[in-house]
Amino acid sequence: MTPAVFVAKCDIGRGLFAAGPISAGAEILTLSGPLLTLRQVRAKGALAANALQVGIDRYLDLAEPGRLINHSCAPNVGIKDDVRLVALADIAAETELRFDYSTTIGDGWTMPCRCGAVHCRGLISAYHLLPAELRLRYALLGLVQRFLLEAWEA
Ligand SMILES: [Zn+2]
Repeated sequence: MTPAVFVAKCDIGRGLFAAGPISAGAEILTLSGPLLTLRQVRAKGALAANALQVGIDRYLDLAEPGRLINHSCAPNVGIKDDVRLVALADIAAETELRFDYSTTIGDGWTMPCRCGAVHCRGLISAYHLLPAELRLRYALLGLVQRFLLEAWEA
């Protein structure tokens, strides 16, 4: 059974939270939404932050609740197979779920980070700009969008 989540206020607006305990490895949510091109994403302006990149010039305009997931430089969830949100550790009820946006970014999009993690990078940017060690760790965990890995193998 898929663990339940709920939307609530957090320190930076709204976020997605665990309704009950979630076990490490559990699948939480499948992210979905209409497919957009980069041009269509840019036309949406500030709302572009809600688009999940799934390919070169391919983005999902995320529906709720997936669109409300915030970023962390020390994430407790990650995305497998481009759209499956999974728990990276045991997660207690009422905990906010956050993934590392950089595991999905292949374009020039950036955003200042205020996630509060000890090793906060200060800026959310493309996967290829992450430290090599971190790129490798995410790749080995299967948490990197496939188009990003293919770009490195090419
Ligand atoms: Zn951060």
